[in-house]
Amino acid sequence: MIKELTITVKPEDEKNTGLHKNLIKKELQKNHIKAESFESVFVKKSIDARHGQLKLHLRYKVYIGEKPEAAGEWKPKWRPVAQTLSEKRTVIIVGAGPAGLFGALKLLEFGIKPVIIERGTQTSQRKKDIALISTRDVVNADSNYCFGEGGAGTFSDGKLYTRSNKRGDISSVLRVFNYFGADEKILTDAHPHIGTDRLPQVINAMRNKIIELGGEFYFNERVTSLITEAGDKKLKVKGVETQSVLTGEKRAFYGDAVLLATGHSASDIYEMFAKIAPAALEAKTFAAGVRVEHPRTLIDSIQYHGRGSDAGLGAAEYRVTTQVDGRGVYSFCMCPGGFVVPSSSGPDEIVVNGMSAAARNSKWSNAAIVVEIRPEDVPQKHQAAAASLGCPQLAGLLFRREIEQLAFANGKGQAAPAQRLTDFLAGRKSTELPATSYTPGIVSSELGSWLPPHISDRLKKGFEQIDHNMHGFISPDALMIAAETRTSTPVRILRDKETFECTELKGLYPAGEGSGYSGGIVSSAMDGENACVQIANSLS
Ligand SMILES: Cc1cc2nc3c(=O)[nH]c(=O)nc-3n(C[C@H](O)[C@H](O)[C@H](O)COP(=O)(O)OP(=O)(O)OC[C@H]3O[C@@H](n4cnc5c(N)ncnc54)[C@H](O)[C@@H]3O)c2cc1C
Repeated sequence: MIKELTITVKPEDEKNTGLHKNLIKKELQKNHIKAESFESVFVKKSIDARHGQLKLHLRYKVYIGEKPEAAGEWKPKWRPVAQTLSEKRTVIIVGAGPAGLFGALKLLEFGIKPVIIERGTQTSQRKKDIALISTRDVVNADSNYCFGEGGAGTFSDGKLYTRSNKRGDISSVLRVFNYFGADEKILTDAHPHIGTDRLPQVINAMRNKIIELGGEFYFNERVTSLITEAGDKKLKVKGVETQSVLTGEKRAFYGDAVLLATGHSASDIYEMFAKIAPAALEAKTFAAGVRVEHPRTLIDSIQYHGRGSDAGLGAAEYRVTTQVDGRGVYSFCMCPGGFVVPSSSGPDEIVVNGMSAAARNSKWSNAAIVVEIRPEDVPQKHQAAAASLGCPQLAGLLFRREIEQLAFANGKGQAAPAQRLTDFLAGRKSTELPATSYTPGIVSSELGSWLPPHISDRLKKGFEQIDHNMHGFISPDALMIAAETRTSTPVRILRDKETFECTELKGLYPAGEGSGYSGGIVSSAMDGENACVQIANSLS
């Protein structure tokens, strides 16, 4: 018999296996299960800091009268499966982010060759390009925090949880990351993360395996257009046109299908759609706001009820959400013990985001605090501008761009506009700013004077409400850095619910965050996999 149960212990008893065994025995008795002897396998740990107390919930799988190994469940490992490749079946994958890489591994399982085309560089060169943003104020529009091998999440906290379970088995994505080198802890933590210091090696290992199994990669190759031919009723996509980022040389790549996994920073891809197949785009809700950075000790103390690193639980996380004047105001991509990073993908904009190392041990903790923006909230001038481009669905993208350019205009190079949270609430410019993890630097700015009122007015009320639940969040040591605009895409690329094929273009499969159907590393990876299963079905 196998029974799953949860025991609760104090943080200091996390490794006290004798105590765990006694508590498991008591739980079994409570459930009227007689067990002279049993074996247990640790499954999941979660931290509970509610109600003024710190507790750990430990989930175990308990084996009564059978061995875990015999049940075949002892730490199941993922292994790459690849059939002999059929030269006749090739799929072009645009984008080497989680959707593209996990999609490629899935195609190999079906004996289909993936050809991955990526505008950015490999992680080794990408690290150098990213360093130039802070040291020289140079943003390479094809190789930055958003673009390059591994996609937007390569230099990130590498949080691997998703609020959505509907796409499939999250643990299978975790096992793939573990196979390629991520710590085994990701399989048992309730909120697993890899860390920016480990992610590049994991991504490199994935690339090497895909090549070993027969896939191909082309880096520094930007897709500029789709190659189409007339079909029965719709255009059929036969391949993609590219331009080398290094030489400007133009090329064409042909395949039996194209997986479009370009992420939500690739504005040029949406603009291309607006020309080729505008009916395939749909405006969607997105969000924008700021990164808020606190000293880590302050967040730890709030969340751990006055305790700090002595609690032995690592840097504290938080998640806040509230409603202000009919729109959500919420935290996103919280990075405990992390850094705020410059994730602009163009030279005339400022976009911030967050990342952490595996140890989550920097002096700061940060999170995006953003305001929901529905299509009807987008200012009229952007609606009119998008309509004049023949694609009203792009209005949100134009609004996003305006906020990023306003941040640039109120910063200095990539030094970002910033303000103490208390000064923001009082409506005054900060006379001096606290130390920050944001390496390009910060410039004092009255954020409320230029952020769109839809955002700044709600942030003001939202912070008061957040502080009500997380007392101490509003603090002179809390720093707001603008602008956080890339939490999700303002445009969706429409696809069939069952087949994942684009509603307007045959042979094209939009997937991942840029398609508007996923958000975050895990759900984008699963979306890429699911789309590739559908491609394989269509080619069988
Ligand atoms: C700094 C930062 C931190 C983050 N932290 C986390 C986190 O901790 N946890 C989490 O779940 N999510 C995090 N995210 C979000 C996460 O990275 C994305 O949700 C995820 O990467 C989306 O995967 P994707 O494959 O759909 O797209 P992406 O990862 O965006 O990949 C798209 C790829 O397509 C390429 N591309 C774009 N246009 C073209 C073109 N025209 N031609 C060729 N290639 C092109 C891009 O260069 C890019 O590599 C973070 C993002 C950033 C920027």
